Amino acid sequence: MSETPTAPRRGMLLVVAGPSGVGKGTLIRELLERHPEIEWSVSCTTRDHRPGETPGEDYHFISDDEFMRMAEQGELLEWALVHGIDRYGTPRAPVDEALAEGRDVVLEIDYQGARSVRAAMPEAVMVFVAPPDAEALRERLAARRTEDDCAVARRMRSARIEFGSMGMFEYVLVNDQLSVACDELEAVYLAERLRTRRCGWRELQRRLLAGMGDEGR
Ligand code: 5GP
Repeated sequence: MSETPTAPRRGMLLVVAGPSGVGKGTLIRELLERHPEIEWSVSCTTRDHRPGETPGEDYHFISDDEFMRMAEQGELLEWALVHGIDRYGTPRAPVDEALAEGRDVVLEIDYQGARSVRAAMPEAVMVFVAPPDAEALRERLAARRTEDDCAVARRMRSARIEFGSMGMFEYVLVNDQLSVACDELEAVYLAERLRTRRCGWRELQRRLLAGMGDEGR
């Protein structure tokens, strides 16, 4: 039987936000291990490159001028000044291309970026990762070797604003026990993939009906 071409499934855009230090990166890495079919969107940033980070894999480290040029030319799906210091943004082209080709993409961004993505792409799946309490977040930030006291205080100030934005997310998960939070993020991903608007049910329906011949008519 010849196959009739059908519109390809559009990919899912999974947005993961939450304060710095809450463990978004770890959760996303685990999700990508479990589902290598998901694409990680590499953000652009004007912040300095930290030891251990790989340019082009962790971030594209670019100058302020280059960042603003990209923003002005519409090359960023969203961008924001994070912690009041550095700019971070999501390059638009790789995300558009992956979604159009039916591949799922995950973004790790701040609440401002999440708000812009929600406005531009209301079908994006929005997940907020919260710490179990403020003390746990403070401890995690202080334990990061990369942060001095000033940076911890700045990130705690940003966290207050991030908490204020929780209401715009569809899912909130608490990263208390890492393995539980990983399972929860995967559960969101799997359930969202099964939504009728994403799962390619028309093609399945066509095959099922074709396979029945005249049975049950
Ligand atoms: P860090 O400097 O610790 O790597 O990242 C700081 C924060 O920047 C992260 O917690 C994340 O929320 C935010 N961030 C990273 N990439 C992007 C991006 O592309 N867009 C926006 N809006 N925020 C980002």
